[in-house]
Amino acid sequence: MFVLIKHNSGMNLPIRLALLFTSLLAQAVFAQKAPNEFLPHKLGEQFTPHHLLNGYFEQLASASPATMKLEKYGLTNEARPLQIAVFSSPENMAQLEEIRLNNLRLAGMTSGQPNLNNPTAIVWLSMSVHGNEASGAECSMELAFQLATQTDPKVKEWLKNTVVILDPSLNPDGYDRYTHWHRMASNLIQNSDPDAREHREPWPSGRVNHYYFDLNRDWAWATQIETQQRLMAYHRWLPHVHPDVHEQGINDPYYFAPAAEPMHELITPWQRDFQVEIGENNARHFDNNGWYYFTKEVFDLFYPSYGDTYPTFNGAIGMTYEQAGGPRGGRAVETDNGDTLTLKDRIAHHLTTSLSTIEVSSKSARPLVENFREYYRRTSTNPQAEYKAFIIRETNDPNKVRNLCQLLDQHKIRYGRVGAGLSGVKAFDYGSGQEISASINPNDLVISAYQPHSVMVQALFEPEAKLADSMTYDITAWSLIFAHGLDAYALKERLEPKKPYEPFRPQKDLSTATPYAWCIHRQSLAEAQFVGELMQQGVRIRTAREPFAMAEQQYAAGAFVISKADNRALHSSLDAMVTAAAERANVRLYPVFTGTSAKGKDLGSDAFHLLKRPRIALVYGEDVEENSYGHTWFFFERELGYPITPIPLDRLDKIDLSKYTSLVFPHGHYSLSEGNLGVLRQWIEKGGRLIAFEGGAKAFADQDGFELNTREALKKDTSMLRRPFLTRQRDGLSDGLPGAIVRGKVDNTHPLGYGFPGYYHSLKTQPDVYEMPENADTPIYLEEKYQSYGFIGSRLKPMLKKTPLVVVQKMGNGEAVLMVDNPLFRSFWQQGKALFANALLF
Ligand SMILES: [Zn+2]
Repeated sequence: MFVLIKHNSGMNLPIRLALLFTSLLAQAVFAQKAPNEFLPHKLGEQFTPHHLLNGYFEQLASASPATMKLEKYGLTNEARPLQIAVFSSPENMAQLEEIRLNNLRLAGMTSGQPNLNNPTAIVWLSMSVHGNEASGAECSMELAFQLATQTDPKVKEWLKNTVVILDPSLNPDGYDRYTHWHRMASNLIQNSDPDAREHREPWPSGRVNHYYFDLNRDWAWATQIETQQRLMAYHRWLPHVHPDVHEQGINDPYYFAPAAEPMHELITPWQRDFQVEIGENNARHFDNNGWYYFTKEVFDLFYPSYGDTYPTFNGAIGMTYEQAGGPRGGRAVETDNGDTLTLKDRIAHHLTTSLSTIEVSSKSARPLVENFREYYRRTSTNPQAEYKAFIIRETNDPNKVRNLCQLLDQHKIRYGRVGAGLSGVKAFDYGSGQEISASINPNDLVISAYQPHSVMVQALFEPEAKLADSMTYDITAWSLIFAHGLDAYALKERLEPKKPYEPFRPQKDLSTATPYAWCIHRQSLAEAQFVGELMQQGVRIRTAREPFAMAEQQYAAGAFVISKADNRALHSSLDAMVTAAAERANVRLYPVFTGTSAKGKDLGSDAFHLLKRPRIALVYGEDVEENSYGHTWFFFERELGYPITPIPLDRLDKIDLSKYTSLVFPHGHYSLSEGNLGVLRQWIEKGGRLIAFEGGAKAFADQDGFELNTREALKKDTSMLRRPFLTRQRDGLSDGLPGAIVRGKVDNTHPLGYGFPGYYHSLKTQPDVYEMPENADTPIYLEEKYQSYGFIGSRLKPMLKKTPLVVVQKMGNGEAVLMVDNPLFRSFWQQGKALFANALLF
């Protein structure tokens, strides 16, 4: 401003004064404010709501144009902004885009030769993915202030060769649920009694997002919009170091890397070693302060969908940091050793590990960058795991394949058509679980492991990951092939795609004549979305109880028929409604011009069963596990597109249940009263349909009138139910059970089995085992010899032989559908959704 005035020396005094005033004003508005200068409270004395957290970052960014950049990367379900802040030296900030592109070149994710002359480390810090572990988000403001002002000479030095990306709040909806509740429920005078209300967060917690998903289990499945939008930002950068900043129980010391066993076999020696280096630096700072910490325990690196494993499988040093606190911490809480743990302490500890991580990354920028490059060179040229190519057969339902490809796009995984046929190829066949000699067609889809993201390819597709130690927090098998129910092979030899893959769009029917009826195959969730939408519009739909043929097409039992005869009331609008719904759900319609079938019963036969439009209620409350409630809610609202009424479990006996045709009990830990059981039995007998899964089904086990009985041997030896695998919970909640995949036999003549091949791969996450019922159907069950993938305890495994996975019991005019496993677990088991839709709609 001064310079400007000098150059304009002809300017008169009032203008000069006005400019001076503007300049002073600008400095006052745009000064880099510390958190305590900006917030209405002192940092750590109160929780900061998300809009103020956000406001702080915005003011700091506008006051720090040379050292900080804010990038909005999306919005949450409740319309809160998602953003990252990028920090570096002014010199680096001036060429930030070149640094970013150079890094992608190191990974082979963009074209051109990378420049290795001035290696720049990229550190990405993720704060408070669990919203009620709020100290990470609180800490992010002070951290941002130090990174933006660079007044500390050490920080200034580190940022000369380091770019820091800071996501202050990965789960703003959950963060605000917690911080808002805490402000609302806490005493004016801080209360550190751990039994006080302000330390007892109610259901649903702020840990989870709007749909009660644990976003720290969602990185690989990317079912939630926070994850989907974050992955786009993440893959634009591909950081070298990624701490995921959490909190744990109030009596635990701080946890940081190195991680515990088991570590996934695809984690490289460098990734193991550098974690140790970071851990040693953190430990040095903690030693200097006299703070407790622990390493190498509890937090393993195996399941690929965490904020530590996902970055690890994408070439970074991915780590979990855990501070004591979480929702029980509040502003201050008394701990077992008689001390008081404060929010200020928690912020200070996270600030220390964050800065320490930046410090060690800066000091090792060259080896970090060189090893990152080497990681990607090796993944592209020498993939480590057993299988080198995964073949998705062209005979699969095209919507299932399309769905898989959309997920691969999220992870920047490349794929294409095989291009030329091959025969006599030695392959692992996922359907039978056997080695076979396979024929591969030109239009089969192939995903080669020879590509930059081959570690993700192998981690996501291999039938079974090698487990060095059964002590893990999470499911031990997750192959996308089983999850998506695909007919597929794994090859030990290299096979590259030769033709691009175009996503499936059904052929449009170009005939102008209005058909007599439409027939639709039942193949995946797409048809359930289609039928669900039409039912809401009052369209009458039938489902075939037996196979039939119309013209050239053969239909299996379960196919749908929509006819003019059933829908006279809709007159000429039927045609437009059906074609529009098919277009939206991406479903192929087969118009037919007669009711006479080429094979099997005619369309007018009662072998075509008229579907009833369900009115569905979903129970909620303390007994219902919040994740499972949320997964179910999300399924109805965002995947099936079908309305539900959530009703409180503790008022079942006061609600007129006759309004609903179906009641859903998600997983949970129920203790139903005799009164409520009686109400439910009566409602079922009058024609209601109960659909309950996992803990929801267990609520009815061994109860009068229900055909689900705990296996006798398990009653005698309940030690198996105690799950010895867990010494400590990953995050203090009981979500982290080991899980495995079992191959169930499907009875395709039963409506629940429609649309499936003769088998169903079920994801089992609870050790409950039941007897085969005497007076109920078991459309899916485990045979004497059943296949399984992942870890199942040696005593439990034989006990599962000849046990039901789904029990369907007639009760009066109604039915109880009891599913032993959770078909909607974390919303990534696509086959489970199709099964659940069968239970609901048809
Ligand atoms: Zn956490």
